[in-house]
Amino acid sequence: MIVKVHKLKNGLTIIACEYFRFNSLYFDLAVKVGSRYENEKNNGIAHLVEHLAAAQSSAHKPVEQWIKDDLVHDFSAYTLQERTNFEFSAHKNDLKPVLKLLSELVYARGVVIDKRDLETEKKIILEELLENENEPDFYYNTKVRNICFSDCSLKLNILGISHNIMKFCLDDVRRFVNDYYRPENMILTVAGSFKIETLVKLADKYFKFSRESMAQRVESLKKERFRISSAYIEPKGGINFINRSASQNYLGYYATVQNSNADELIKREFFVEFLDQYLSHYLRAKIFCYSVGADINTFREFSSFSVESSFQPDKTENFYALFQQILKRFRKTLDFGTLKHLKNNKLKRLELDKDYPREAANLTSWFALVFGTEKIITHTYQQRMIKSVELKDIFNFYDQMFRVRPGTVIIGGKVSPTQKQQLKKLWSNWKV
Ligand SMILES: [Zn+2]
Repeated sequence: MIVKVHKLKNGLTIIACEYFRFNSLYFDLAVKVGSRYENEKNNGIAHLVEHLAAAQSSAHKPVEQWIKDDLVHDFSAYTLQERTNFEFSAHKNDLKPVLKLLSELVYARGVVIDKRDLETEKKIILEELLENENEPDFYYNTKVRNICFSDCSLKLNILGISHNIMKFCLDDVRRFVNDYYRPENMILTVAGSFKIETLVKLADKYFKFSRESMAQRVESLKKERFRISSAYIEPKGGINFINRSASQNYLGYYATVQNSNADELIKREFFVEFLDQYLSHYLRAKIFCYSVGADINTFREFSSFSVESSFQPDKTENFYALFQQILKRFRKTLDFGTLKHLKNNKLKRLELDKDYPREAANLTSWFALVFGTEKIITHTYQQRMIKSVELKDIFNFYDQMFRVRPGTVIIGGKVSPTQKQQLKKLWSNWKV
């Protein structure tokens, strides 16, 4: 695989991953926008704009409604906190019509949504919200964001709130698109069998962003009344209880770590991956819980690390105490030999991922969006980083996540006063 980066005159970044033995092309178009760029008044607009764009992909049907033009496959669009993504695959012979379609999808040729499309998508999103509200994960995610990021836009729900959705009008959509769906705010990654020269020529032709200059955009953003979080967020800390009647209690441990660069993040993600395996292996066997997960969610300035689990209410203090013990043992027993073994496993997994152009494009595009395109991260690059991991890096990550502070702990469900007391004591005596 050969990876090439090209910047169009209009500012759009193109990353080409050339794999010549495939029949399919894989497209990943990332826009640097999401709920982190919203405030309470327009929360939900980024997701609405994504829906409207996705609806465009089937809007230009040259034939009867039900015979869709078979251009794009496995289409998926989603909105995150800092990113809105459009992904799909297509046949290698369809590069031209697909690029034309994609340019319409990301409003490169203006906003052509009518009021009826807007009202339709708003109704769909209101249902999407209701469906989400019934999920326990959604309930706790909302609580966790409110506790950890109480005074900035990271606390906002990606889907928005129904009150906002109902009142959004075409002007709101246009303004938002003009501010964020700008070529300099997008990365188009294509993987598969094609020539970058052809791709660049076609993209130049179809991605015509007329409209205001970048300077004007900055001015218009300044006028916005709200505050967008754009810095490292200090963890709020503390042990927090959420009263909730449910058959299981929930426990979450949260810590945030500053991000200096992509290399460090690759290593830290590797660490979290095997820590997840370790915790899951030992906690499940000792406390019989169905799921334990260590995870890391990365923003440009920092990563938010979490360990989450659910179990019967009477296991709560036992779980928290065991979590501490198992962490201690992990720190004590991790040695050079184990790390070498873990590294080899990871190198093999990365080797396998190289077989999938989609994996390659997703990975490269994500790192480019977060850390810029000066350094292009591929699976081969990741392998180099993994090889260079030393025990002291791992211990350093461990300290950042578990030793600097006792973490922000969130416990939801039914907790008796005695349990509460014990849990608070465990939190203040945290030592791993
Ligand atoms: Zn949606």
